[in-house]
Amino acid sequence: MLEIVSFILGLATTNSYLVADSETKEAVVIDPSWDGHIILKAAQDRNWRIGHLWYTHAHFDHIGGAAAIADALNPLPHVALHPEDHVLWRAGGGGAVFGLDIDPGPEPTIDLVHGMILKLGSNEFEVRFTPGHTKGHCVLYVPKENLCFCGDLIFNGSVGRTDLPGGDWNTLEKSIREQIFTMPDEIRLLSGHGPETTVGHEKQFNPFVGNS
Ligand SMILES: [Zn+2]
Ligand SMILES: [Zn+2]
Repeated sequence: MLEIVSFILGLATTNSYLVADSETKEAVVIDPSWDGHIILKAAQDRNWRIGHLWYTHAHFDHIGGAAAIADALNPLPHVALHPEDHVLWRAGGGGAVFGLDIDPGPEPTIDLVHGMILKLGSNEFEVRFTPGHTKGHCVLYVPKENLCFCGDLIFNGSVGRTDLPGGDWNTLEKSIREQIFTMPDEIRLLSGHGPETTVGHEKQFNPFVGNS
């Protein structure tokens, strides 16, 4: 079974998800947004071992806690990121625009590819390539658990901004329609910012891409 601890961290109030397989106690952090020591402590308190960091995209407010987590781990965690976001990652996640100079943490070691399956214990996370907010944005879909970690692609009542470098509205809209709105309505969407929602709710009510 999957266990999820969520955090709201940093100056962009970004959601981070510490996800573990309850049998093996293996854990991953999906978007270690900020204050890595807080995420680390939550894992230690539960006796979970963080082996991987998975990034929906490389914006600074989604990777800002990586260095602090990695510093405390031996061996270093594997870092998964889509190659199209490597340039952004090397640039510190675009933080310079906001006057922030962050340590991006350990080098990405796993190239996310559309359709690949990431495993955590017996749980399978399907990678879906969903550019538009950044060039290499991906979501992680866990059909067996009825949930999707969707980063800054779509939010409860909103969508990811497309005015930062690498952003493009038409691409974002296409990603939402083809990769999110094709999922069953009951799928829970755990976003990078704000409260969770569902595919069905956003299909109907999202003011940018919904029906009404
Ligand atoms: Zn972002
Ligand atoms: Zn964000």
